[in-house]
Formats: sequence, C-alpha cells, structure tokens
Amino acid sequence: MEITHVGKRGIVFTFDDLSSPGYACPTNVYVVYTGKSFFICDTFLGPASMKSVKEYLEEKYGEKEYVVFNSHSHWDHHWGNSAFLKAKIIAHELCMEDMRENAEGILKKKAKFKRGKVVITYPNLLFKNNLNFDEEQIQIFHSPGHTLDSSSCYDSEDKVLFAGDNLEEPIPYINSNLEGLKEYIETLKYYSSLDIEVIIPGHGQVSDKSLLEANLHYLENLPNLVEPIDIEKHGKAFYIVHLGNLNKLAKIYAEEKNNKEAIKFFKLLLKINDQVKLYEEDSIKAINQRIKDLEK
Ligand SMILES: [Zn+2]
Repeated sequence: MEITHVGKRGIVFTFDDLSSPGYACPTNVYVVYTGKSFFICDTFLGPASMKSVKEYLEEKYGEKEYVVFNSHSHWDHHWGNSAFLKAKIIAHELCMEDMRENAEGILKKKAKFKRGKVVITYPNLLFKNNLNFDEEQIQIFHSPGHTLDSSSCYDSEDKVLFAGDNLEEPIPYINSNLEGLKEYIETLKYYSSLDIEVIIPGHGQVSDKSLLEANLHYLENLPNLVEPIDIEKHGKAFYIVHLGNLNKLAKIYAEEKNNKEAIKFFKLLLKINDQVKLYEEDSIKAINQRIKDLEK
C-alpha cells in the first residue's frame, strides 16, 4: 500500500492487490481528514485492507468519527465497509439497490480477492441527488457514468475530486450504447465546471484536470479517434481499452437486436486491430463469425 498526501487534508491509500503481470490496476481509497472526522471514500477489498488505513489515520491524528462513502456498487469499492460498523455509510439509492441484488452473489464468485472476513455491509444513509456537509466543505453527488449509480465526492476546501471509476487512465470503459453515453458526458462536463486542482480516480494515479479533459475528449468523439492510430504514441493500454469498448458497443447493439450497428462496431474493431495487432487469430475468427451470423 502506498500513501500520498494531497492538499491540506487529503490522504490517498493506493493498493495494488488487483494488478497482475501485464495489467496494472492500482486502486485508491481516499480519505479527507476534517479535524473532527475521517471521510473514507471507498473501502476496497475488505476489513484487512482497511485495517492498515485505520491504523495509519489513528496513529497520526487520533481516534475520530468515521464517515464512509461508496462511489458505486462494484465489489472492489465496498467490501471493506464491514470495518466501519458504527459509521454512517453513504451511497446513492441505486447503489443500495444494486448491492441488495448482486453483492452476495459476487462475493461468492470473487471470493479469492477478499481481504479479511468480508461481511456485505450495506449503506445506511442514502441520497438521490446530493448530500452536502457544509461545515466540512464536502459535497457528495450523483454522477452517473461508469455505472448509473456512480457518485463522486468533492472537497471544496482543498479542491479535490474523488471521481470513483468515472475517470480512468488512459481512457474510460463504457457500459452502455452511444445514446446512454450522453449522461456520462454530462457528468464529465459538470466536473469541468468545478474548481478542481487534484483528481483522484478509483483506479490509477493521482491526477488533475488533464485526465478529465482526456476522458471527456475520448467519450465525446467515440467511436471515432480523432488522432491518427498510433500505438507508439498512445500506448498499448489505450488500444486495449478502446477495442474493448468497440466490442462492448457491438455486443450491446446485438443484444438490442440492432444488427446493423452491431456489425458496424465489430467491423470497426477489426479495422483498427489490423493496424494495432492486439487480438489473437482465434478472437478475430470468432468476431468474423459473429458478423456473419448477424448478417443472416
Ligand atoms: Zn473499480
């Protein structure tokens, strides 16, 4: 675990448990120490992960009240909730809905990732639009994008935004068709309107507005890449995510029985892969077969 202090009162705890060879996935837990309480943004993989966070905070600042915020319902962001049984645990109402439906099942499926004894611990303070802590200068607000329940935490004193998985290095993953991306783009435009000096993504390095601009630029132009395709310049990770997004779009349209759009995105994927050569022969064959089936 790596610890980075940001601004006057922010601490980022970065964990590498989800990284594997060839796949970097640093995950951030962000803490705002307000003098009275610790605001914990996301709780990673379990109470064992949170133990080191709590020890660090309590040793440095003494015992304070904990307030927990879950940015969205994905497992890698709330399994540590059970380390904060007496705390307020804040989440969007859609996050709660999704957790109720899926959290127990996913815990069984992903059990090998848990750190310590994970007991699914549900949020106990829900909001719909936003929740402001005026005295602490902290605003928690709904920011649909990565998922419909995604929410963010803005520290207006330090001008720090914790964006959960809405911002990704180098480009975001999409989970909806192009129509559904409009809401995501709106969220990123709203971020742009905030006075921000530091951005903490759910995964990846501590950054600034340049990450937001790059993500927004990508989403606004999708499915097109405005730059010429250049694996040297943008790096492999960029194209791995981009091809994954085109694949996702094709699959979503196929599910929606919009075969024409599905074929379009599968073909675009293959065209770009011709240049960047990231997919194996077998995957290319499978996609070609998929196109044939859709053309029937
Ligand atoms: Zn995540």
